Amino acid sequence: MTNPTRADLPVLPVFPALALALSVLSACREKAKPPQEFDGASAFGYIQTQVGFGPRVPGTAAHRRMGHWLDSLLRQRADTVIVQSWNHITADKTALPLRNFIARFNPTAEKRLLLLAHWDSRPISDSPRSTDSTKAVPGANDGGSGVALLLGIADVLKRTPPAIGVDLLFVDGEDYGHFTEAPADVLIGSRYYAAHQLPGPKPLYAVLFDLVADKDLQLYQEGNSLVGAPEVVELVWGTAKDLGYGGYFIASPRHTLIDDHLELQKAGIRAIDVVDFDYPAWHTTEDTIDKVSPGSLQVVGDVALALVRRE
Ligand SMILES: [Zn+2]
Repeated sequence: MTNPTRADLPVLPVFPALALALSVLSACREKAKPPQEFDGASAFGYIQTQVGFGPRVPGTAAHRRMGHWLDSLLRQRADTVIVQSWNHITADKTALPLRNFIARFNPTAEKRLLLLAHWDSRPISDSPRSTDSTKAVPGANDGGSGVALLLGIADVLKRTPPAIGVDLLFVDGEDYGHFTEAPADVLIGSRYYAAHQLPGPKPLYAVLFDLVADKDLQLYQEGNSLVGAPEVVELVWGTAKDLGYGGYFIASPRHTLIDDHLELQKAGIRAIDVVDFDYPAWHTTEDTIDKVSPGSLQVVGDVALALVRRE
């Protein structure tokens, strides 16, 4: 995912005393809530496992191992798992073996939600902030967090099945190439999915999750989501506010991003992006496990699950 205009990011001031007061307030509020279904701590373990594979760059052993792990976890949790498998020929004529995984719960239900994340890692750390652009991105937050979130949702839905249909889509090849110079080599899995949609009704809407575990979680509304599916943005941010998470899901626009949700929008799906683009380690070798937290996954997991349970 990328932002065509990210060069002039404002630096936000942080006031420690205010931050402490807010965290005490939110801790009080959380105590009054019923037991949470989503388990941020165990979802965090799924980030640790992914980082342990090494960068999940298409064509590498780490990518193959990760695919095998994801496939077996999903088969233990979902009612049906569909694997879309193909070779993508890149601009420089490399054949990349790619796979999308679709874990379906309640597969015959007419009313469905689609939740998605990318599971690949970027082969180069080419952010302007990066100190070594030859290395792959470790992808704790970029890729790792979205996958962990969806796996945490899968754990919950196995224990307590949803009233509606839920499809968890793990797309491959989101982050492989250059977003402007080789646009066919990014968002590859979501483009493939859009061109090979499953038979049956379209989802009510789709939510893409990426960069959702930053310790300093700030989820602003994303520009292309507001253009393509404003009612879904309103629903998701409203749900977060109802759960007491308005301090994390900030109900104002900030960045406009080229990401997997655009490929789904083009195919007629009401898709939005939930993404924290204020993440200094983005596309650097510093996107590591110490930058992400179980608490942030808990916030986003609670919101995602509330979307499933409200239908
Ligand atoms: Zn990325």
